[in-house]
Amino acid sequence: MSGVMLQSCAACGHSWQFRRATCPACGSPSFGEVEAGGGGTVWSVTTVLRAPLPELDVPGGFGIALVKLDEGPRIMCRTAAGLAIGDRVQVAVEDDGMPRAVRAGSELEDAGSG
Ligand SMILES: [Zn+2]
Repeated sequence: MSGVMLQSCAACGHSWQFRRATCPACGSPSFGEVEAGGGGTVWSVTTVLRAPLPELDVPGGFGIALVKLDEGPRIMCRTAAGLAIGDRVQVAVEDDGMPRAVRAGSELEDAGSG
């Protein structure tokens, strides 16, 4: 379970992250809430070297990635260093409510780093 909640249109199947009153693709007011599978591809990634909060200040900085979920929406995620555009990742919302992306297949080795 990724913990990433999306809205999905009953009429056309389009999915989006930020809540709306109608489907942004077809305008239908008929949609439901679904949990994303968590699989995605890195759309963009950068390393933040000047942490805005003391708890984010780690040696070598921390990564921020824009991940295109398999369902379609792109979401911002924390990540460890070393990801590149096009990498397959798995996204999950952590206890603090922030989504984190780890390289697909490496969930165990990346857990707790960065
Ligand atoms: Zn629609």
